[in-house]
Amino acid sequence: MGTSVNIIEGSQVWVEDQDQAWLDGQVLKITGQNAEIDCSNGKKVTLNLSKIYPKDMEAPAGGVDDMTKLSYLHEPGVLQNLKSRYELNEIYTYTGNILIAINPFQRLPHIYDGHMMQQYKGAPFGELSPHVFAVADVAYSRAMVNEGKSNSILVSGESGAGKTETTKMLMRYLAYLGGRAATEGRTVEQQVLESNPVLEAFGNAKTVRNNNSSRFGKFVEIQFDKHGRISGAAIRTYLLERSRVCQINDPERNYHCFYLLCAAPQEIEKYKLDHPKTFHYLNQSKCFELVGISDAHDYLATRRAMDIVGISAKEQEAIFRVVAAILHLGNIVFTKGKEVDSSVPKDEKAKFHLKTTAELLMCDAVALEDALCKRVMITPEEVIKRSLDPQSAAISRDGLAKTIYSRLFDWLVDKINNSIGQDPTSKCLIGVLDIYGFESFKTNSFEQFCINFTNEKLQQHFNQHVFKMEQEEYTKEQIDWSYIEFVDNQDVLDLIEKKPGGIIALLDEACMFPKSTHETFSNKLYQTFKSHKRFIKPKLSRTDFTIGHYAGEVQYQSDQFLDKNKDYVVAEHQELLGASKCQFVAGLFPPPPEETSKSSKFSSIGSRFKLQLQQLMETLNSTEPHYIRCVKPNNLLKPAIFENVNIMQQLRCGGVLEAIRISCAGYPTRRAFFEFINRFGLLAPEALEGNYDEKVACKRIMDKKGLKGFQIGKTKVFLRAGQMAELDARRSEV
Ligand code: ATP
Ligand code: MG
Repeated sequence: MGTSVNIIEGSQVWVEDQDQAWLDGQVLKITGQNAEIDCSNGKKVTLNLSKIYPKDMEAPAGGVDDMTKLSYLHEPGVLQNLKSRYELNEIYTYTGNILIAINPFQRLPHIYDGHMMQQYKGAPFGELSPHVFAVADVAYSRAMVNEGKSNSILVSGESGAGKTETTKMLMRYLAYLGGRAATEGRTVEQQVLESNPVLEAFGNAKTVRNNNSSRFGKFVEIQFDKHGRISGAAIRTYLLERSRVCQINDPERNYHCFYLLCAAPQEIEKYKLDHPKTFHYLNQSKCFELVGISDAHDYLATRRAMDIVGISAKEQEAIFRVVAAILHLGNIVFTKGKEVDSSVPKDEKAKFHLKTTAELLMCDAVALEDALCKRVMITPEEVIKRSLDPQSAAISRDGLAKTIYSRLFDWLVDKINNSIGQDPTSKCLIGVLDIYGFESFKTNSFEQFCINFTNEKLQQHFNQHVFKMEQEEYTKEQIDWSYIEFVDNQDVLDLIEKKPGGIIALLDEACMFPKSTHETFSNKLYQTFKSHKRFIKPKLSRTDFTIGHYAGEVQYQSDQFLDKNKDYVVAEHQELLGASKCQFVAGLFPPPPEETSKSSKFSSIGSRFKLQLQQLMETLNSTEPHYIRCVKPNNLLKPAIFENVNIMQQLRCGGVLEAIRISCAGYPTRRAFFEFINRFGLLAPEALEGNYDEKVACKRIMDKKGLKGFQIGKTKVFLRAGQMAELDARRSEV
């Protein structure tokens, strides 16, 4: 990105540093290609010139609101700019039309109030300080002007970065723009807004990274009528984390709804509830309460939100009855039965929970026990009931809990959609995407694989868009852009999703073949992708595999891939709950479609997710996108702590640096003719004599200083990376 030609002894520079990412300092001495630098923290280092970037000594102290206004567009400049703004509580900064939002981890006064909304309404983009409202406002006004061209706002960032909060602000602002004057009853926009607390109660949980972490992806499409009023909405969700229902790690929590219900005094008796610590699905972690949050209060708030989105009292009763049933189900512990390899409820307590589960789900208790502890085997000769050992029965129980919960969640989403209603005549749509960011942990399983696959897809979309925008700017200014190269991540996407032969296809194959194990699956991957640039077999493992993602390498543990990819409901469970006397419960288990051939019956989470993503990408491709990149400034979730290295890594993963790179491949620095002349006129005073033409004067200044490769557009000068610094260096010689 940088260029070192302008660095001389005495120059102020940035040098890379392990702890601080970038340190500033002064060049003491240059010997050949090496420079000795006196860093501001007292360190003295000697580095190759190519590792050093010039520091812009004229950068304003409070930063600039758009990175493209930086004279020197390089990593340290970007970081410094964000930092100086964050210190002043300026959490928003543009990079062209990407909005970077750094989580303040505190309520900043007035930045989202009614007065603010009023100010941003209809204000030209870029006139006011960067803000989510500004992004929503452009999306809205473009959507209204260009009928038929949808807009989308893509919010991304790692867990805890502020995606969901940002999404809520966007939705609030759109509801403000597209709302009706207060009328009786509930309005569409109210319903759209109140869908958030409902989905959060059932789809969010406390994790180590975020006390209110969304465990699903979400795309909300808001429809407007021709008067610009909200006339409908559609919510699509992606890949709810199912495993959390049965398994949580300390100090995380299960989904909020379980704790809300246990805290509701009016429900405890009805559902035979108790403190969360008495339930196996909740007491695997010692965290039961959240600081500053009242579950009892949130229970009522959730019920109110459910009223508004149109979930009837009867349905609400059934929903929470199912939630309670899942808690009791988790407490059915098994022990060995009389026969070999059989199992029975362990004790009176387990029997009590079995009975209660059956009551709440309104199904037969004996049938429930059978469905958990036995499997029906159909052989050509006869139908036999085979018993499960206690361990398998527990797996069966957890499988049932996960299935019920994920169907409950899907039901909620469908219900909200039906109740808000769609406006099929709407030609004006704004989609808002709140989806999990790139993940790389100590252990990475199938979930991370799917999440990172999503991010590769979005990254490709993002790159293509940024690239296109650059081209458009160049075309508008009538300059030549033919040699800007474009690095694509298609190779990673092929590795994952190519059909046949990609990882998802091979995983499906393995799942269909009864004898496969994660070892055979891994071996197949190693053979198939032996020479793939993006695939690595880790030296010290026989079942892990590593993918070289755009945001860095991630090593995946394959041991649960097969299980997690399989998507089927045990026939016994289906039969049991399909026959429930509760219409709501039976409705969660509609009869499966007629059995056709064996292969078409097979469905996998991976392939289904791939299809969902494909549809999402098609939708996004037909829209004009706007990007918001959320950044988490520290892992302590505390205000006013800005961790350089951490933030750099996120800018890299979020494609912000890539966008800058793409822009650097072309002409990253643009200056209007008059601005350029103001700054560099003194380099060629003769060019400014008399009644000069600005365009000609700019060219004369650069020619005189021997600059090559720049371009002159219709209104602006386009400089290559580093040329601004070069001119500055000349200026200091004058
Ligand atoms: P996940 O991927 O885990 O769902 P997320 O990116 O959606 O994470 P949020 O839940 O939106 O993260 O934000 C985490 C927390 O950060 C919020 O609960 C809130 O406390 C704080 N926060 C985020 N954005 C803001 C903001 N603009 N102002 C004040 N606090 C904020
Ligand atoms: Mg979230």
